[in-house]
Amino acid sequence: MSSTISQKCPTCGSNLEYDADLEKWPCEYCHKNYSIDELVLEKAEDSKELEYYHCSNCGAEIFNNKYNITANCIYCDSPVIIKQRIAGEFNPNHIIPFKSSKKEILNAFKEHISLKRLLPKDFFSYCKNIQIEGMYVPYWILTAEVSAAIYGTTLKRINGQEIANHYRRKGTMSFDKIPADAKTTMNSNHLDAIEPFDYKQFEPFNYAYLLGYYAEKYDTTKDEVYEEEIKKRIEDVAVDKLLKAGTNKRPDSLFSKNVNIYKSKFEYMLVPVWIIKVKYKGKTYDFYMNDQSKKLSGTFPVSVVKEFILSIIIFLTIFIPVLYFFITAYITTFSYIMIAVGILAAFILKNIVKSYSVGKTGKKDRDYITQGSFFVSDNSEETSYL
Ligand SMILES: [Zn+2]
Ligand SMILES: [Zn+2]
Repeated sequence: MSSTISQKCPTCGSNLEYDADLEKWPCEYCHKNYSIDELVLEKAEDSKELEYYHCSNCGAEIFNNKYNITANCIYCDSPVIIKQRIAGEFNPNHIIPFKSSKKEILNAFKEHISLKRLLPKDFFSYCKNIQIEGMYVPYWILTAEVSAAIYGTTLKRINGQEIANHYRRKGTMSFDKIPADAKTTMNSNHLDAIEPFDYKQFEPFNYAYLLGYYAEKYDTTKDEVYEEEIKKRIEDVAVDKLLKAGTNKRPDSLFSKNVNIYKSKFEYMLVPVWIIKVKYKGKTYDFYMNDQSKKLSGTFPVSVVKEFILSIIIFLTIFIPVLYFFITAYITTFSYIMIAVGILAAFILKNIVKSYSVGKTGKKDRDYITQGSFFVSDNSEETSYL
């Protein structure tokens, strides 16, 4: 029994790959497109992790790192799947299959670029040497019930009398499918930045979707991602939700919180991400793109010349009225306007330059709370005079 799987055409026996456009497995020899029900699938049994794998097609040795699920045989060029890495505890519950073609991703990337006015002029031409690969990234997805409580005090002064408002707020909510990537070798902040994924598109896992793509198994267990990432994410969202549910947005003192998380379901899922690499002047720029939403993360280069010219213009806008004031000792309304415009422009420029690094802060734009599941059970306030 071979340690790898390569998917054969049920008619002629040649090697098949998944085609995202067709959502089928086409055979280039018999010119037939097979659906998942028409393929003869092998079972991924739990075998031992081996030091070397052999191509199930030609028998040659396959060079591979520890985590790759898929590989391409360098001798016969057939895409193969390493059985052990999708077996047992590594058998994913679900997969979101790729839907976009490489061409669509290239066009989406070019669209992102066309909006970046501060890019070096020649960056676009370097995009001819762009490398675009689809990769199934392993994720842990948690569904959980949460009950949370916060306590706080806000101090006020009314007619010279100091008043303390003590308040207590308790609530419950359900979190639906919070994702956390299970790969330490990938940039977590950049992955967070391309969330959310549309989970309605997932399918029960089937290795045939992996053919023709990169795929890696997890290197972080669900307990690790829970402790390192998901727990804090839930706590922050729950506390924030409760704070926003009342009039006292931020308490002054005595703020304490208590968040209980009841994990109901952890699922292991493979998620479609495009890895885009552009080599530009000796440096490689890495980007991630969400296959579904085409959301992009990564860091673009900023043209030093363009940034410098803009900075000079901003500097002069502020400097000229100030100089005018020192020479004539007059300050006019127009001077104020110029200085204000200069400061505003400097602020805008700073933010534009910052936006060239997409996803550096790992900002999440979704709280993953199930709609309609948030209930406040206690929202009491007490006032005391100090
Ligand atoms: Zn065939
Ligand atoms: Zn081979």
